[in-house]
Amino acid sequence: MRDAAVVWKGSGTAVTETHSTGVRGDSGPEVARLVASRVLDVPDFPKPGVMFKDLMPLFADGDAFRDVIDGIVAYHGRESFDAVVGIEARGFVVAAAIAYATGVGVVPVRKAGKLPRPAYAASYELEYGEATLEVHQDAFTAGHRVLVVDDVLATGGTAAATLDLVERAGGTVAGFTVLLELSFLGGRDRLAPRPVHALLTV
Ligand code: AMP
Repeated sequence: MRDAAVVWKGSGTAVTETHSTGVRGDSGPEVARLVASRVLDVPDFPKPGVMFKDLMPLFADGDAFRDVIDGIVAYHGRESFDAVVGIEARGFVVAAAIAYATGVGVVPVRKAGKLPRPAYAASYELEYGEATLEVHQDAFTAGHRVLVVDDVLATGGTAAATLDLVERAGGTVAGFTVLLELSFLGGRDRLAPRPVHALLTV
């Protein structure tokens, strides 16, 4: 079976690729199927030609969401990180749940201009133009082991900027998890040799 997906690059044009739709992921087929069953493909959002991967149905299903959070914690091991970073905005939902489940703190990585105190900034290329993410300079104590989470991995620019910010702020990246990876866009390769944990890879 084949289908098409498109990545939204903010101010850029859409990238369209055709890819296989096997249900697979780094935590096994059961969790992958769970995520796949709670994702809606929304065509032409937020602009014509974009296929948006909407994970709100997963967030809205209490049992499924808890299974996903438990799966992420089990994969990394609850003793393997001291803080969890969520990338604005849907990453906040995942990060807060992991933080509550494990008793660690949550740190937001935000879009430019949203943080009230001195922050490090990392910019990355969109297809046209640039995006900037920020983290508070005092977000971590030295050596803090940080798990980074987001909803979707596409080209990997967002994730690469975030991992850079974590290290500049004194943290050590303990892991990176996304709910859904668009593998044909090469985000995993871009982040190599850092490991990527994706619950569903399409
Ligand atoms: P990238 O930097 O290309 O890896 O894009 C990843 C970021 O953009 C994540 O924060 C996602 O929430 C968002 N994103 C990119 N493409 C999509 C898509 N097709 N559906 C939903 N979110 C997306």
